[in-house]
Amino acid sequence: MEEKYFEISAEDLKKFVDSMIKDNFEIIAPMDRDGDTFYGKIGKFDDANLDILLPKMSYKEYLLPKTETLFEYSFSGVDIDIKDGIESVEGKNRKRVIFGGRPCDAAAGPIMEKVFNWGYKDDFFNERFKNLTIVSIACEKPDDYCFCAEMQLSPESSHGSDLLLKKTGDKYSAVVVNDKGLELIASYLNLFKEIAKDEFPPDKDWKKIFEIEKAKSFLDKNFKHNYFQDRFLSCIGCGICTYTCPTCHCFDIQDEGDMKKGKRIRNWDSCQFAIFTLHTSGHNPRNTQGDRYRQRLMHKFKIYSEKFDKYLCVGCGRCSRNCPQDINIKEVVKDLTELASA
Ligand code: SF4
Ligand code: SF4
Repeated sequence: MEEKYFEISAEDLKKFVDSMIKDNFEIIAPMDRDGDTFYGKIGKFDDANLDILLPKMSYKEYLLPKTETLFEYSFSGVDIDIKDGIESVEGKNRKRVIFGGRPCDAAAGPIMEKVFNWGYKDDFFNERFKNLTIVSIACEKPDDYCFCAEMQLSPESSHGSDLLLKKTGDKYSAVVVNDKGLELIASYLNLFKEIAKDEFPPDKDWKKIFEIEKAKSFLDKNFKHNYFQDRFLSCIGCGICTYTCPTCHCFDIQDEGDMKKGKRIRNWDSCQFAIFTLHTSGHNPRNTQGDRYRQRLMHKFKIYSEKFDKYLCVGCGRCSRNCPQDINIKEVVKDLTELASA
């Protein structure tokens, strides 16, 4: 579908969201909780905090929950009963909208979709992704941790959004990117005014401070470079960087139960945990935090892009903002580009 352009006043945007809630949409938006801002289900437009640059966590958990049951079983001694977890996937057949997220978070969905459909098709991920409509708001003032422009995106990118809003004074300009976006606004078109493409505000010229391809060229040739061991000595392996990241997707599968009944569950995991690669023999091929953070860099900026032609990072800066040891991935990647030229 060709993109369509609209305008909507701030007052009508509120009506749009409140009407969707009335029509039984589940609206997930940034909202204040426990002294911070997280994505959560809002009961009315005013519950949302649209001023925050980025909520603490991404909305990854609406595609890949922190923990989920893949199946449950019970055995009577004669019959075995298996209940497939896909039947109770929340979001299945439900009208769920992520409203007011940022372009970096929206771009993460299609990146994750690649790995969840590589060889094995993950019905759990796909079911949730299919039933999610993404309405993002372009950023006006990225902070010093952001580097989406370096990651082939921009604070105004519509990639991964179904509908992207840009604030212009007391109104919003809207680009409907695809059929999903058009379907969403179809019942509320009286609130939107269609405009021509050239009336839609053009993207600013966002400056880049490094070229990501240079970082990749360093990673291609320097697996054993001292930089990794020296730079990440302070990393405590807490995994916060991976849990807050919108594109990190490692998980572990555990069986809980006994012969009579039990379940198989999938939980978030992290390549930053020492036990992630610990062998039963006691050998650990990634024995230091330097090895583990190097793996994170290799996966994001080399391996994934070679396999899927996309970097596994959208430059949201969450891992840096939330790192208790102040390890800043933007500075790290910049270091790699400089080492590549040294
Ligand atoms: S959040 Fe920081 S300290 Fe924790 S594992 Fe990641 S880089 Fe290391
Ligand atoms: S690696 Fe860091 S900057 Fe990149 S997407 Fe993940 S949290 Fe954001």
